Amino acid sequence: MWKMQQIITHLKNSRNVLLATHARPDGDALGSLLAMGLALEACGKKVTFYNESPIPAAYGFLPAVGRIQALMGSSDQYDTAVVLDCSTLDRVGKGAAAMLQIPTLINIDHHASNDGFGTLNLVTPAASATAEMVYGVITALGVPLDRDMGTCIYTGISTDTGSFQFSNAGRSAFAICEELVGLGVQPDVIARQIYGTFPLRRLRLLALVLGGIELTPGGEFALMTVTETMMAETGTTPADTDGMVNYARGLETVKLAALIQAAEKKNGEAGFHVSLRANGSVDAAAVAGLFGGGGHVPAAGFYTELPLEEIKARLFDIAGDLAPWEVTTHPLPEQAAGNQA
Ligand code: AMP
Ligand code: MN
Ligand code: MN
Repeated sequence: MWKMQQIITHLKNSRNVLLATHARPDGDALGSLLAMGLALEACGKKVTFYNESPIPAAYGFLPAVGRIQALMGSSDQYDTAVVLDCSTLDRVGKGAAAMLQIPTLINIDHHASNDGFGTLNLVTPAASATAEMVYGVITALGVPLDRDMGTCIYTGISTDTGSFQFSNAGRSAFAICEELVGLGVQPDVIARQIYGTFPLRRLRLLALVLGGIELTPGGEFALMTVTETMMAETGTTPADTDGMVNYARGLETVKLAALIQAAEKKNGEAGFHVSLRANGSVDAAAVAGLFGGGGHVPAAGFYTELPLEEIKARLFDIAGDLAPWEVTTHPLPEQAAGNQA
């Protein structure tokens, strides 16, 4: 608890705070960022919301989302940075190096693999979402929660628990959300925004992706691919693929599912983002770690500039013998993390 107190004392004394979260943000990243920022503003702090990636349209309804900026300006102006939902600082993206110049880095995260990059670290793998931790920070700050903050926190918990379907949807997730609904947060409206307002282009892309699904003979591994050509044909962008990997994960035989997708070029290099999902018996984070990525046991990912055919070949090679990745026979500390993203 003393870590929380140190963070609260520091935040109360801060003046100009940069808030950041991981590139390719998900609902937990954005919900945590916005709720934390709104609460700090309620304490009279100057706040800058930073994320280097485009914001997926599904999250366009979040309060204050329009204030998120892709440039942080000079790092001199900030006395404090709060980094949310990032297991390592480089998950922030290009801005990571400049953030190291900020005198105090506060790391708030729920990844078991978090490397403790902050000056002050609050890492709680048992939390269903970073948003659940932000709820705790806001409460400890003594800021009264309002409906806008509540909407952001609810969105983070809802998305990281797979709409309350994963094993991390425990008592605290429900208890917090119960309180938030009492503040006027509307689960039906949020669910419709996040899960039920996709554009036709996404369905057209999904049809192509499902048509190209590849499986191991026993169906333990399922691989889906989103190529640049598919995106051009359907007018989609990487933000339109959010959650698609779950179609493969839901197959009755599947232990490990992957979605490979052409990523935006970095320094002119063509690369791929790979999402991995496991059904509980395989450690997706350990598999992602082989490629330099990470995540949680059931949900992990990595970025690579290997050629597509080589990524596929390596994944099928791993899938040919999933035994080394079975969490039941090779328990890893990350197992405690549950189903989180
Ligand atoms: P995604 O498949 O993009 O939804 O990512 C699932 C989870 O994997 C994320 O919430 C992160 O915890 C982790 N992850 C994704 N990409 C990376 C990466 N490049 N490096 C480390 N962890 C990642
Ligand atoms: Mn996340
Ligand atoms: Mn998260």
